[in-house]
Order: sequence, then structure tokens, then C-alpha cells
Amino acid sequence: MKILVVEDERQLSEVLTALLKQHMHDVDVVRNGLDGEDYAMTGVYDAIILDIMLPGKNGIDVLCALRRRGNATPVLILTAKSEIEDKIKGLDIGADDYLTKPFVSGELLARLRAITRRGNEFIGDELHAGNTVLDKNTHEIRGEKGALKLSAKEYQIMDMLLSNSRQIIPKERFAEKVWGFDNDAEYNNIEVYISFVRKKLAAIGSDLQIKAVRNVGYSLEVPEC
Ligand code: CA
Repeated sequence: MKILVVEDERQLSEVLTALLKQHMHDVDVVRNGLDGEDYAMTGVYDAIILDIMLPGKNGIDVLCALRRRGNATPVLILTAKSEIEDKIKGLDIGADDYLTKPFVSGELLARLRAITRRGNEFIGDELHAGNTVLDKNTHEIRGEKGALKLSAKEYQIMDMLLSNSRQIIPKERFAEKVWGFDNDAEYNNIEVYISFVRKKLAAIGSDLQIKAVRNVGYSLEVPEC
């Protein structure tokens, strides 16, 4: 997943970044509320970890602005124990969950997973489609003929496809989510990774197909049950 961390305490943001990267997430960190709002409004994040006491604009105001502007990205609020009232207010205005500092890393990861869970497709830590399963912990895909581990980029591509099956995902969205803003992802780079994923799907006997839509992007074709 691509996660935005809005946290001004340098040490805490570094710990968060290391933890999330260790779990194969892609992380952007900003240290004030104004940047937090700007970054969040790009809509490329799967989740936002938002501190309350921030320079520029506090977390509650950032969250309020995001929801007012139609941004529905799941938000996990981080609060100090003394900010209990803010926490309650945060939940009222559209935070998905909160965590009190100091927190245990396992709990943070569990809450992130919980707020990003999507509909019925999400069974535990797995995404299912057709005869194929993507394991979010091991980054393996499984089919009738076996299982294979995906690389970080292959995993992100597969995760995007499975989370938006039968929809056309523009190449630009792959570029933003998988390669990040700062990288000029060459479009043929995306094609190369798509071809890697296709080969792995074929190797495990998957009945999913990644269709290319000329000059637009890709969609995942799932056989009807
Ligand atoms: Ca703070």
C-alpha cells in the first residue's frame, strides 16, 4: 500500500517509515498540516496516518478539510493521551480509527489493515478473485498449479488490479502508485512489469487475465462464477 505519514516528530516519523517499509509499504512523510492536506488531496494514498498537533494546520482541521473536499482515503489518527477530546472529535468528523502514542507496532499494522479492508473481496489478509488468491502478508499469489512470490512492484500492481477488477486502471495511476511522484516511470517500464505479472499468473494456473486497453491502461478480467 501507499501510505502518507503526517507527523512532525522526526524520530517518530522515522520509526513509522522504517516499520511500514519493512512491511512492503510505500511511504511518503510530510511534517506539517498544510503539506499533509496537499499530498492527501492527490488521492494516490491507500491510507493516511495523521498526527493531531502539527505545525501549519492541526490534524483535526486537515481531516475536516479532506472530508469536506470529498477525499475519502482511510485515516488513522495518532494522538497523545492528553488529546482525548481531539480524538473523539476526529472520529466524529471522519477519521476511521485512532491510536494513542506510544503504540505497539503490531497494533498500528493491524489497525491499518482494518481501515483499508475493502468490501467482501477481502478475506483476512487475502484478496480473492477467480481461482486466484493474493496473500497480503507473504506477497504470494496462489492458483491451481501452485504459488509464487511477487516482487514489491509486481505485488503493488497485482494489488491495484485485484482491488479494482473489471475497471480500467490508467497507466498514470500505476506510475503514481507503484513508482511514486518523483520517478518518471517510463510507460514501457509498466508494460515490462505487467508482463512479469502475467507470466506468474500463467505459471500458477490462474484464470485471471490482465487486458491491455490501448493507449489507456490495464484491467483485470475475472471469469464469472
Ligand atoms: Ca505532533
